[in-house]
Amino acid sequence: MMSYKIHCIDVKNQLQNYIWLLEHTPSGDVIAVDPTEAKLVQDYCSEHQLKLKQIWLTHWHKDHIGGVPELIAELDIAVLGPQAEQEKIPFMSHALNHEGLFQFHDLNIEVIAVPGHTLGHIVYFIDEIDTLFCGDTLFAMGCGRVFEGTYEQMYNSLNRLAALPPRTQVYCTHEYTLSNAKFALHVEPENVAIQERYEQVERMRLLGQCTLPSQIEIELQTNPFLRANDVEEFTRLRQLKDNF
Ligand SMILES: [Zn+2]
Repeated sequence: MMSYKIHCIDVKNQLQNYIWLLEHTPSGDVIAVDPTEAKLVQDYCSEHQLKLKQIWLTHWHKDHIGGVPELIAELDIAVLGPQAEQEKIPFMSHALNHEGLFQFHDLNIEVIAVPGHTLGHIVYFIDEIDTLFCGDTLFAMGCGRVFEGTYEQMYNSLNRLAALPPRTQVYCTHEYTLSNAKFALHVEPENVAIQERYEQVERMRLLGQCTLPSQIEIELQTNPFLRANDVEEFTRLRQLKDNF
């Protein structure tokens, strides 16, 4: 599957967003995931001779959809997003149903519903290129806050992602890995995999490097929220992290 490439735009904002671009290399067509800012995407595309064709949104939060109106103002770009959040994302052109399937060139993209952070949150899974765009649901060594759903919904959503193929590359929207690593070490101080990853992440961040993508296999070993044995343990961890 060498005909696809994933690019990273580091927004360098306070929330430490990344905008991921998925390129079909033979054509230079790209999709942008959760473009919080328009100009960075426009500049990146013109610099690398890429053609923005689609925008994929995971949920309605402003730091995920902020750049969309400006990006679609002049060009004919499809905006895909969760049907359940259509009212909050008025510029959406294609509302995606939970468990839906669609295509980009010859890739089959699976839409998975992961309520919890928001009620309509979806993720985009592409088995053929081992890729998951997971927005604010799963983070490297952490997970999103439970804003709209219940803890049980979030727990089930994370378990759904944990069951994806272990080789799956995990593209989250934020660079939260170091603070997540600190929390992970706090709750599992004896976990050698967490100790090692903490040191690695700390080194990378000192050098200003991006710690993503992660991988499901690595998250299963080092993410306390995926390692929780039941919803009670997950709830306790999530509440502890909210005040950490
Ligand atoms: Zn969010």
